[in-house]
Amino acid sequence: MVYLDYNSTTPIDERVLEEMIKVYKNIAGNADSRTHIFGDEARKVVEKARSDVAALLNINKDEVFFTSGATESNNTAIQGLKEYADKTDRKHIITSSIEHKAILEICKAMEKNGFEISYVNPQIDGRILFDDVKKLIRDDMLIVSIMHVNNETGIIQPVKEIGDYLADKEVFFHIDATQSFGKLVDELKEIKYDMLSMSAHKINGPQGIGALILRKKRYKLPPVKGIMYGGQQEHRIRPGTIPVALVAGLGSACSFALLEYKANLEKCEAIKKVLLDELETTNIEYEINGNPEYCVPNTLNICFNGVSSEALMISTKQYCGISNGSACNSRSYKPSYVLLAMGLPVERIENSVRISWGAKSNVKEVKDSFIKLLTVAQRLKL
Ligand code: PMP
Repeated sequence: MVYLDYNSTTPIDERVLEEMIKVYKNIAGNADSRTHIFGDEARKVVEKARSDVAALLNINKDEVFFTSGATESNNTAIQGLKEYADKTDRKHIITSSIEHKAILEICKAMEKNGFEISYVNPQIDGRILFDDVKKLIRDDMLIVSIMHVNNETGIIQPVKEIGDYLADKEVFFHIDATQSFGKLVDELKEIKYDMLSMSAHKINGPQGIGALILRKKRYKLPPVKGIMYGGQQEHRIRPGTIPVALVAGLGSACSFALLEYKANLEKCEAIKKVLLDELETTNIEYEINGNPEYCVPNTLNICFNGVSSEALMISTKQYCGISNGSACNSRSYKPSYVLLAMGLPVERIENSVRISWGAKSNVKEVKDSFIKLLTVAQRLKL
């Protein structure tokens, strides 16, 4: 059985796990205890990991704040600016209709609290247009929040252009980089963002840890306040005892990503080529969702005409693990809101699946399971 749902989560890297076990076995202290060596040792581990995260993004380590993952980072980035918004009367937020629920649901809640949200729709190719964002910019802007890479389609959004445009404006630019962090390493270094969210488990790190990045402007952090009350950890942006081994796992995953991202991209690209070659040789009718030119190398969102995605997923369960959308919504049978926003017909959406892999996927295994999937799809075709 081959795992092909890497955009949902990735298997932990053995080397990362070893590092975490070492920490679990040897570090007893709380990283915020200042009165003994046990605390100092834990703090060293945490600060080393903070440097590893910072190095991957080419930023300063005091701009890294550990959270439980991208959902919490997104919540803190947006809800954490409420106090500032009240003080300055800036209550307009721009986002897109294809964001993860961990942005859309926050925006819905903010709307109930008197904020105005503008949603930018994508084109049929899965990309939003920079001009559509630009048109919405006003004087009372608080945040522009746009994802770097869409989790369902793998389509890269124009965050570089948006960041360049917003750089000298009085607005905070947040990017949800959950699907690009540790992968599109060179691109991320070039983007002018104020806030960035990520999760370790998308880059072969542990689940339950991530970071919110807050970039300093003229030596000052964005005025984000923690959304929970508690201790003074992470400068109050994220109170609560720092999970030292998880943080070490995130740091370790980042240092491997920095060393290996170029080779990883090439391996993912090679797998995509194998899958596309297979598609060409079968006579099954298919359509790729999203413009392949803007797609990351580890994702394929594909419609097999006349083949229900639910039937295909169930019938291929013993060969591979694929999905038809984000795991966070996979309990609902509603057609993907991302593909709907792109303007694809419902029937096409109902016949679409997402296949996603990683650099550690075995090319031959992926190829063999994909061939089986194509055979099943042919059999299921109405
Ligand atoms: N944003 C995006 C784009 C994602 O893909 C995900 C994970 N599917 C999240 C946010 C949420 O990440 P987590 O579940 O790790 O909090």
